[in-house]
Amino acid sequence: MSAPRLGSIESGGSKFVCLVGSAPDQIEAETRIPTGRPGPTLARAVAFFQETVARTGRLDAIGIASFGPLELRRGHAKFGHLAATPKPGWSGVDVAGPFADELRVPVGINTDVNGAALGEGRWGAARGLDTYIYLTVGTGIGGGAVINGNVVNGLIHTEMGHLTVPRLAGDTFPGSCPFHGDCWEGLAGGEAMSARWGAPAEELTGDALREALRMEAGYLAAGLRNIIYTTAPQRIVIGGGVAAFPGLFPLIRAELTSTLAGYPGLPEHAAEDFVVPARLGRLAGPAGGLVLAAGAADAARPSPDVGPSGGADA
Ligand code: ZN
Repeated sequence: MSAPRLGSIESGGSKFVCLVGSAPDQIEAETRIPTGRPGPTLARAVAFFQETVARTGRLDAIGIASFGPLELRRGHAKFGHLAATPKPGWSGVDVAGPFADELRVPVGINTDVNGAALGEGRWGAARGLDTYIYLTVGTGIGGGAVINGNVVNGLIHTEMGHLTVPRLAGDTFPGSCPFHGDCWEGLAGGEAMSARWGAPAEELTGDALREALRMEAGYLAAGLRNIIYTTAPQRIVIGGGVAAFPGLFPLIRAELTSTLAGYPGLPEHAAEDFVVPARLGRLAGPAGGLVLAAGAADAARPSPDVGPSGGADA
């Protein structure tokens, strides 16, 4: 069977990355569209796929890794729509619908974080594993859990950035989360770091940088401990701008070993390859779109052998 031709969209706050291909290193066409008002932005993205299809042939499916929050319950009237978002004009917008309607292909959609989690599992730092965590630490903190090969969605997608973590001794910063103040993201996201230190983290030097990294590693390890004890991941993959700070990973590993305190005493938790940097970089989201597209294509394919009560017809 030939590789499917898939469309992928990473819809972010500043741009839509749209591409056609089958893998991160098998990309036939790509475009970037600045995220403006919803109508024109989605129309330009649809037009890119229509033009590519007209030039090179049909697609099997499209996958969207989108900023959230998103309604992802199958069968829900608002499936594929954004919920209330601070992004002007985008609250309630149907992100998936225009692609399904105009291009007449199956459309898979999930959050950008969950998409990146799936991309890292298929082609990146969690390749070959079925239960792992992908965490992005940038302006905020977001996490996706892949458990037994499936990314976790229930009533809503996971919101790991809003975990509660114990405050480090001496830290008087009130926290930057508009909802919770000093949740995980409110204490350890890039925005929190900037507010705590009065300068963007990448501008810190010397003792201030060392102290910022020590605190960051402490907070990240505290949140990771909660996630390790609740989801039993085989690996934790961390991406995002803050994660790119030189020297941060050894500090996180040391803090994690300290906070796990020998319980349950798995040597794997202390291994170098347990907490690792993301590998796909800027391609994680688009790669996630490809995985979501492949899943949508599979789900739409007629099942070869379905028992009398096993119909999965949509
Ligand atoms: Zn919060």
